[in-house]
Amino acid sequence: MLNRQGRPSAPQAHGVSDPAAGMGDQAARMQGDANTLSTGSAGSHPTFTGNKALAQIEPLLFEIGHTDVTGVDFDEPENFKPRLGGLERKDEIGLPGLSEPEAMRHYVRLSQMNYGIDTGLFPLGSCTMKHNARLNERMARLPGFSDVHPLQPVSTVQGALELMNELGRYLVTLTNMTTVALSPKAGAHGELCGMMAIKAAIEAKGEGKTRNVVLVPDSAHGTNPATAALIGFVVKPVPARDDGWVHVEDVKKLLGPDVAAIMLTNPNTCGLFENQVAEIAKAIHDAGAYFYCDGANFNAIVGKAKPGDLGVDAMHINLHKTFSTPHGGGGPGAGPVVLSARLAPFAPVPFVTLKDGEFTLLEHEDETAEKPFGRMTAFHGQMGMYVRALAYMLSHGSDGMKQASEDAVLNANYIRASLADLFSQPFGDKPCMHEVLFDDTWLKDTGVTTLDFAKAMIDEGYHPMTMYFPLVVHGAMLIEPTESESKASLDLFIATLRDLAMAAKKGDKDRFTGAPYHAPRRRLDETRAARSPVLKWTPPAPIAEAAE
Ligand SMILES: *Cc1c(COP(=O)(O)O)cnc(C)c1O
Repeated sequence: MLNRQGRPSAPQAHGVSDPAAGMGDQAARMQGDANTLSTGSAGSHPTFTGNKALAQIEPLLFEIGHTDVTGVDFDEPENFKPRLGGLERKDEIGLPGLSEPEAMRHYVRLSQMNYGIDTGLFPLGSCTMKHNARLNERMARLPGFSDVHPLQPVSTVQGALELMNELGRYLVTLTNMTTVALSPKAGAHGELCGMMAIKAAIEAKGEGKTRNVVLVPDSAHGTNPATAALIGFVVKPVPARDDGWVHVEDVKKLLGPDVAAIMLTNPNTCGLFENQVAEIAKAIHDAGAYFYCDGANFNAIVGKAKPGDLGVDAMHINLHKTFSTPHGGGGPGAGPVVLSARLAPFAPVPFVTLKDGEFTLLEHEDETAEKPFGRMTAFHGQMGMYVRALAYMLSHGSDGMKQASEDAVLNANYIRASLADLFSQPFGDKPCMHEVLFDDTWLKDTGVTTLDFAKAMIDEGYHPMTMYFPLVVHGAMLIEPTESESKASLDLFIATLRDLAMAAKKGDKDRFTGAPYHAPRRRLDETRAARSPVLKWTPPAPIAEAAE
């Protein structure tokens, strides 16, 4: 028996049968907390609904949905005997119900509050937020790729396995490495995979007890020391220098029979190519240790420099950065790891092999004479990402991939040169790779911080750059435009940042310290959100009660 009724006329958020009651509810919430909705009261002409034209506010599902409007009621079955030993639920499950158009609007409105690469320039440094080509999406949706099941017999997924094999071949060729483990599902997961291969190699040499130190430069991404520590290594920092580079003599001072590896990002998080990388690799190898390279910034050097030629033993590649697959909220990424000949025998299962013209998946350690350290994932990794990445590679070709890297570097340097007279560069006025790093020296005495500046960018319709990272630079602003942006797009971005910078220097502090003024949410108390998160929704008090 369907229990589908119309929406009740109880207090609703907006645009429903009792709009006045809805507004009261909303207004009450807006007044209660300066950190909540910026709509309605912000402009000189507050609107009745609280919406601002196409920028519609949207309450939580629990605030608009009701438990009694949708769903299916079944009659109690006769002679029903619960068999859950008293564990069965006796009260209502309490999930809110919405009609299909209501549910549709809810999620579409939420999506419109979001900002993505399809909305505008996304200069988040070290994230390579480039355009995700629709061709790649189309390929990933081919039923032969999107509908395969990881437990299907291999004879029925030959095409998918061939694609994985081909992607692996491209990654190995682009990096001049020996093999690749495709399965890790993110950059950090790839780091873990690479470091586990290093650990297995050290143990195979009987040095598992003695080599327990991993060197990590101060400018590294936080995932590097976290990965090393997670698998039991002691992390020793390589101190930062004021030219932004890691120096071989600083590394040599720390080397000894206890060092297992260095984890170095190249190009580094200051946007610079490590100019002593070959010497560092040699020193590491001479000391019997391994060179892990964080390859998150590979987009700067594809087709220009091969990590294998620089002495790298293991490197993860973020397909969701360099190879234009989408970044999800924590997934679905993919972080394949390329390995040198020294580490290749320890590559984890599964991997694709070609035997008598047929592709097979090698799933178990004992099916090979090599020494896989184990496995990283239950199945084979992110198939959709593999398809998108290979589609990117094939549609660009080797000349196109090289050109993409050159354009990414050119775009970053165009921004750098166009802002150099107003913004301060921590390591002097030298060319950068794919991202440009500024510090906050230029904001001194303005009363405006890096955070305030970033919030004012939101009002101008831009996602902020990466802020306060790398940690070695005070008030860091790390801008990575990627090759996707046209000159016109970069010029508008530059003009906007120049306008903001001049406003800050002229003393228009309010434009910054109160920003964002125009976003669906005003400035959030991020510390409070992290320290005392509210993880459970509780129904708001009825308006009458709240007013008392
Ligand atoms: C993005 C990034 C990572 C981590 O990659 P995830 O896919 O987010 O886990 C590691 N190191 C650097 C330098 C990065 O930019």
